[in-house]
Amino acid sequence: MRKMVIFEGTIAAALILAVLVLFLAPLTPRMLLYPLVRQAAQAKINYETRQMEAYETPHFIIKYSPVDAATVPMVAQAAEAAYAPVTGTLGYAPAGKTLVVIYRDRSELNKNFGWSGSQSAMGVYWGGVIEVLSPNAWFRAGPDEYKRTGPMVHEYTHLVFDHVSRGNYPRWFTEGLAQYLEYRVNGYEWRTADNSLGGRLYTQAELDDRFDDLPSQALAYRESLAAVRYIAAVHGDAKLRQVIAALAAGRTMRQAVAGPLGMDYGQYEQEWMNWAKTNMQ
Ligand SMILES: [Zn+2]
Repeated sequence: MRKMVIFEGTIAAALILAVLVLFLAPLTPRMLLYPLVRQAAQAKINYETRQMEAYETPHFIIKYSPVDAATVPMVAQAAEAAYAPVTGTLGYAPAGKTLVVIYRDRSELNKNFGWSGSQSAMGVYWGGVIEVLSPNAWFRAGPDEYKRTGPMVHEYTHLVFDHVSRGNYPRWFTEGLAQYLEYRVNGYEWRTADNSLGGRLYTQAELDDRFDDLPSQALAYRESLAAVRYIAAVHGDAKLRQVIAALAAGRTMRQAVAGPLGMDYGQYEQEWMNWAKTNMQ
């Protein structure tokens, strides 16, 4: 009986705490749970790759198959080179070492994500882990070129931003941010014959609602870079950090833009598109 009372008391206390958390914290319940879900995914990938070799650097643990041993120093160097600029720009460094898994070929990488063979990414960020395609499978140049054009700055930006924002962001924003860091750190831009910003563009609503389903991914990605780069170029890096901080505080993308930039979402869409037409050709 007494036990029962204590038990009920504990449940009541837990309920009150849960209610307080939900109503007082500005973060959504999804954001509160997000780091736990990411940690679970990370633990799962770590377990699934337990047979692989591991190589540690100051900030990363790189897992690989023996056949890729020769590429490990190059991947390690690129990862460490990405560390300072990405954590410095985003003002956050994840605790512990980041897991990087090198997959031998595209089918291995894709199998892990259940993707079709047409997915041609050379790197993927998912569940707190960076997975890269072995440089053996696609890369012919040396370490400096891998640092510059390889996937590490891009994927590590996704990872650090995912920590900062607890998953509270639209797809286009994290892709724009990752490309913005590649541009800033390495001067690298993904340009193709059909992703010029001079023609008809996807609307902001299209980027918001179905980024991954837009027929020209090259154009969707280029636009997402423009939308992020506009903020830094016209309003300054401090404003970009404020937008990120607003997302981290649980604001919607609309609110995160409106506050720091002092403009509504429709105006933002007009502004970055106009800016891009003259500054990113
Ligand atoms: Zn990306």
